[in-house]
Amino acid sequence: PDQSSYPRSRRIMVYVRMRPMSKQEKEAGARSCVRVVNKQDVYLAEFASETDYLRLKRLKGRHFVFDAAFPDATGQQEVYNTSTAELLEGVLQGRNGCVFCYGATGAGKTHTMLGSTQNPGVMVLALRDLFVKLNKRCREGDYVVRLSYLEVYNESVRDLLSPGRPLILREDSKQGTIAAGLTHYEAYSADEIMTLLHQGNQNRTTEPTRANETSSRSHAILQVTVEYKVLHDSHYVCRTGKLSLIDLAGSERALATDQRTIRSLEGANINRSLLALSSCINALVEGKRHIPFRNSKLTQLLKDSLGGGCQTAMIANISPSNLAFGETQNTLHWADRAKQI
Ligand code: ADP
Ligand code: MG
Repeated sequence: PDQSSYPRSRRIMVYVRMRPMSKQEKEAGARSCVRVVNKQDVYLAEFASETDYLRLKRLKGRHFVFDAAFPDATGQQEVYNTSTAELLEGVLQGRNGCVFCYGATGAGKTHTMLGSTQNPGVMVLALRDLFVKLNKRCREGDYVVRLSYLEVYNESVRDLLSPGRPLILREDSKQGTIAAGLTHYEAYSADEIMTLLHQGNQNRTTEPTRANETSSRSHAILQVTVEYKVLHDSHYVCRTGKLSLIDLAGSERALATDQRTIRSLEGANINRSLLALSSCINALVEGKRHIPFRNSKLTQLLKDSLGGGCQTAMIANISPSNLAFGETQNTLHWADRAKQI
């Protein structure tokens, strides 16, 4: 297929996914403060009753339009098809792509990225799709799929497939950023991967006080590298593409849309990688030549997957509850800003 059928390569596609109201929120008397309509419009108000959104249309600053907005009933497959399927197609053309989920803790990031075994998320659906496509296009043995799954926690990088000591990042002129000693697992089917990913997720850092809950400060990055041979003008050519799928740390208090806020947050004990990501996004928004990838582990790792020539998608996860109004507002403003890239 010709490249022009893909979205403009520099542009970040921005999606919003609202999760259903949880049992706890209902019990706490929460009301919905978000409306998702027409597959792309999001209305936010401190109190939005079922019929309120029409009136809200006239309120400035509270109506957002995204590349797509998913209401609470949206299934995993639809989220995958809209946000990631096209990027996978790019990877099979030899391009890098990157999808990340962000939003406050509890907003649905891990559900969207990993999901459960019964209801797998973007990571597993992407790998299923990848193997289906590879088996259609290549002969057996003509492709290799490698997976790495790592965590950035407190600016230290850990292998989620083989936990141990923190990994050191090196810059390589050809391969970009390398995490020394990171496991690159050769995968042959999507089914074996599901278990692997769930085990990897179990290895994410947990908060000392809540032993079973993944730390809200942990970023998980799955990188899928595909190397394959395709017949082109009667001879074989080798291609490589990489898809990065990222479950970001909870964004509460850490999303900043301007440099001044970013600097003031740097003093506080706020997630450095998340701030650095904001800075890089801002620099990309402003069309800056210099993008400060080196400021954090996360951005260093994503250097070859963000910006020029790469396809990037963001899924902003939000709760419908008015109890999370501030966080939702913050997330939507940031998502709105990222749209300008
Ligand atoms: P986060 O990773 O952003 O902290 P989770 O993905 O763990 O949030 O979601 C919090 C809770 O809400 C989990 O119990 C999860 O299963 C549930 N949940 C999140 N998104 C959805 C959804 N779209 N549909 C149903 N349940 C969801
Ligand atoms: Mg999570």
